[in-house]
Amino acid sequence: MKQKIVAYKTLPADVTEYLREHLDVTFVDASDTEAFAAALKDADGAIGASVKVTPAMLEGSRIKALSTISVGYDQFDVPDLTQRGIVLAHTPDVLTESTADTVFSLILASARRVVELADWVKAGHWKASIGPAQFGVDVQGKTLGIVGLGRIGGAVARRAALGFNMKVLYTNRSANEVAEREYGARRVELDELLASADFVCLQVPLSDATRHMIGAAELQKMKKSAILINASRGAIVDEKALIAALEAGTIHGAGLDVFEKEPVDPASPLLRMPNVVALPHIGSATHETRHAMARCAAENLVAALSGTLGNNIVNREVLAR
Ligand code: NAP
Repeated sequence: MKQKIVAYKTLPADVTEYLREHLDVTFVDASDTEAFAAALKDADGAIGASVKVTPAMLEGSRIKALSTISVGYDQFDVPDLTQRGIVLAHTPDVLTESTADTVFSLILASARRVVELADWVKAGHWKASIGPAQFGVDVQGKTLGIVGLGRIGGAVARRAALGFNMKVLYTNRSANEVAEREYGARRVELDELLASADFVCLQVPLSDATRHMIGAAELQKMKKSAILINASRGAIVDEKALIAALEAGTIHGAGLDVFEKEPVDPASPLLRMPNVVALPHIGSATHETRHAMARCAAENLVAALSGTLGNNIVNREVLAR
């Protein structure tokens, strides 16, 4: 008999077909928390994204593997999963380049005021040759500070150093030797990065150690001319402090793909600021990459449930139990 799994996100048809070749698949609408929790109680595994899976939802279940269609795994209590013997798989690498493209589009759009000025043209304001009131700032040749230079940060560093002749600074707990060698990236303390960078780009995972890593004190340390780019997780930044800093002119602007609460409140002051570019969490959202992520997550789940998964495991310790 096939093992049962719950899919809590719509999947491409060919990925569903692949899963059904190996497993008994039930789709559930995860916005119905009770139905989702009930479905988990009668499953061996689950696949999905963007929904919190709490220890309470797993209590009394026989779940052996969870597969998230994302690289970030902040929707899970990883130590709890490990203690329950549940393998958690994720989808690194396949989304790295698309997400780095999103980061770079935020850098360019913020610096060159692309969204603001495109709206200005559409509103019929372009009546004469433009002047300094419409000028932006250069990206090429500037200093980029990457907070968390891992897979995505590395792809951003490559674009910056090789494509835009930028100087790259970064913070990490450990050195990224490839980025240092190939892109001239220099590892510095966070304070030095904040004080020197023209663009501060956040690419750390969300954890207890990184939550509100950028608050009022850190924003104060940035250059008045600097632009903050966040395409990691909203809660890395204290959003209230960011709003205050933008209102006070402490920093020049922000490019945001993620927010503390998503979807962002339409009444958020951030959405009224011309110097803020706001995107609806589109980091990896291309047809090609989202398909590759779904396929990767499906393969992870099938392998995890057959005991053959060798990579893409968040809590490798669980295998040693
Ligand atoms: P990764 O390869 O693990 O890179 C994360 C980097 O952050 C590593 O270099 C790591 O280096 C550093 N780091 C981790 N904890 C830290 C801490 N406490 N202090 C300082 N640095 C720390 O992950 P990735 O694949 O690049 O993805 C990064 C994050 O991007 C994901 O977790 C996800 O939240 C986000 N993301 C967002 C989107 C989107 O749609 N906007 C799409 C994909 C990913 P050390 O371990 O040496 O510290």
